[in-house]
Amino acid sequence: MINLILIGAPGSGKGTQANFIKRDFNIAHISTGDMFRENITNNTELGLEAKKYMDKGDLVPDEITVNMISERLKQDDCKTGFMLDGFPRTIEQAKSLDEMLKSLNIKLTAVLNLKADDAEVLKRLLSRGRSDDNEKTIKNRLNIFKNQSEPILEHYQDKTKVIDVISQGLPNDIYANIEKSLKEI
Ligand code: ADP
Repeated sequence: MINLILIGAPGSGKGTQANFIKRDFNIAHISTGDMFRENITNNTELGLEAKKYMDKGDLVPDEITVNMISERLKQDDCKTGFMLDGFPRTIEQAKSLDEMLKSLNIKLTAVLNLKADDAEVLKRLLSRGRSDDNEKTIKNRLNIFKNQSEPILEHYQDKTKVIDVISQGLPNDIYANIEKSLKEI
């Protein structure tokens, strides 16, 4: 069983690689971005609240995000392994996750750190065409990633295995490296 965290800038390929991993390792794919977008589509209270932040490229407040994940991790499909895609994104979220996993008696297997340079992620995001993918919000999201999310790697350095993956080039080639690393765990 593997329990993974995917970390990477917006546009670093987390979603794409998560789909390959899900196909081969049969684990629950937990994407906070997808969960928020689903709530927006369904017009839930949570969706309306999250949208205010997402439209600007800001982070949805920790309290909302942490509660949502805490409920999600208790669901049955996570018992055979999961992959967190887009969470944690702040040190506070990482600390909350530590507590959650401790109380559920779950151990993390690894953190996959997807690395792509700014020019590459900008190119990918601008060609994706999602409503929050305009130049202004992208700049904000990249800054937030550097200031708030990237420091999380240090938090995990002495807690679990951190696997660095160069996420540039063809999705299949990037995945070949990920698959190899995951099979070696
Ligand atoms: P990307 O990786 O391109 O930013 P996501 O789908 O992961 O795309 O996230 C989209 C938006 O959802 C983020 O800009 C943010 O507003 C919100 N979001 C997703 N995950 C989190 C999180 N862990 N904490 C706070 N906000 C989040």
